[in-house]
Amino acid sequence: MAAMKAYQVYIDGARCDAISGERFESHDPYADAPWATMPRCGPDDVDLAVEAAHRAFSSGPWPEMSATARGKLLRRIGDLIAEKSEELARIEVRDNGKLISEMLAQTRYLPEWYYYYGGLADKIEGAVIPSDKADTFNYTLREPVGVCAMISPWNSPLMLTSWKIAPALAAGCTMVIKPSEFTSASILELMEVFEEAGVPPGVVNVVTGFGPEVGEPLVTHAKVAKVAFTGGEAAGRRVYQAAAESFKRVTLELGGKSPHIVFDDAKQDAAVNGAISGIFAATGQTCIAGSRLLLQESIHNEFMDKLIATASAARMGDPQDFETQVGPVTTPAQYQKVLDYIDIAKADGAECVLGGEPASAEEGGGKWFVKPTIFTGVKNNMRIAQEEVFGPILSVIPFRDEDEAVEIANDVSFGLAAGVWTESLTRATVMAKRLRAGTIWINTYRAVSMTSPFGGFKASGLGRENGLVGIEEYLETKSVWVSTAEDTGNPFVMKLSGGSD
Ligand code: NAD
Repeated sequence: MAAMKAYQVYIDGARCDAISGERFESHDPYADAPWATMPRCGPDDVDLAVEAAHRAFSSGPWPEMSATARGKLLRRIGDLIAEKSEELARIEVRDNGKLISEMLAQTRYLPEWYYYYGGLADKIEGAVIPSDKADTFNYTLREPVGVCAMISPWNSPLMLTSWKIAPALAAGCTMVIKPSEFTSASILELMEVFEEAGVPPGVVNVVTGFGPEVGEPLVTHAKVAKVAFTGGEAAGRRVYQAAAESFKRVTLELGGKSPHIVFDDAKQDAAVNGAISGIFAATGQTCIAGSRLLLQESIHNEFMDKLIATASAARMGDPQDFETQVGPVTTPAQYQKVLDYIDIAKADGAECVLGGEPASAEEGGGKWFVKPTIFTGVKNNMRIAQEEVFGPILSVIPFRDEDEAVEIANDVSFGLAAGVWTESLTRATVMAKRLRAGTIWINTYRAVSMTSPFGGFKASGLGRENGLVGIEEYLETKSVWVSTAEDTGNPFVMKLSGGSD
């Protein structure tokens, strides 16, 4: 067996091991074998990285760099990522077992985040405020929030972390990134790009390791001003609570239980494709999974026949193969969780009409494969309809009319996304307004862009990434007052009155 690649973390522009010298393994879920080792960092490594980010924020070339120069740097990063897109995608597939077709689509599109926010860097403007006070000039400055802690999950490592890195760099922040312990390799490879592009030392740092050992010390570090977290509900809640202690700015991108609603006037074949892409693409391991399929009663049986026929033909296999449509579940723990939820759904009375079990090697599967699984007869109050599984399990729930569809769709703690399939413009517009979720797709699903705000209602998160609003999360607004008055006024009274009205 070839020697495992030993990665190093990236702190203050240099590669190094964890202070303890400890390492942990990164696994290839399809091969079911470790392929690389990562430094197992702890609080002392976090401290080094945050101090480096703090120094880079406070002095040296980074705060001196003009916003226009930052923009050029971001665009250079985008160009260099484009040259490495296939290499980066292959590494991600090796770590998370998702399909090469999906990961390559992501890494090929990745430069766009750096181009978009590179373009925005020198268009962040303050305002001149029409002052109500005589002889007073009042304006605002938009300043970078400071050192940011970027914590990301394993399902789309480079893309989801770049949703944070690109606007933060454009705003002038510095950062410490903690990738998922399951998928650290691609972020560390990205640091070569940043180095080559000329990002000054300390501006971007990466520490690898586990949530309690690295994530928590990062979130609670006194010199971290903002936490941008993408991950599950439980860790998200801990991060939010820990960050509250020192009033850090927080954005949270969490889980979902997104409804995919098909009306009787929808183009059925397109909606079947949409439903498949919502739950079986990425083996259901996506925050925006359309894990609840709401079907209008009148089309339920006809639609289910088509859906089962398409889903049962999905090709399982090696995720590095472009022909594969369903890959393995990423981790053994996640695999067990998926199987547990199949049991829970059955025990609660849902009817399994497809899959519901592991897929053997003869069926194209292997060690961590679960067959595309569909349950009908699901009630929205069942656990399978309320809790995020993060696997290839679809719950089908019938509804009578628009009102009932809205009631069922909104009756979950999450609010990340929703899909609506209808040919009626009126119905589409009304549904888009009534659904409580951060993204609504009409006659499409899983479309994202650097230009469009993304984030959740309710337990799906806090704040938005992407688009113009995405950069707001990395900025503070400062109000500056300049007086040209000779008379400084009564020192014992606030300066309230307009003075010139
Ligand atoms: P996770 O919550 O287990 O881990 C996410 C990250 O948080 C990892 O880097 C982990 O090490 C770290 N972490 C864990 N505990 C921590 C703590 N106490 N303090 C600080 N950091 C901690 O999530 P996961 O299993 O890697 O990813 C799957 C989850 O992510 C799903 O719930 C999915 O819906 C969600 N997700 C959300 C989005 C979104 O944009 N809304 C996108 C992708 C994934």
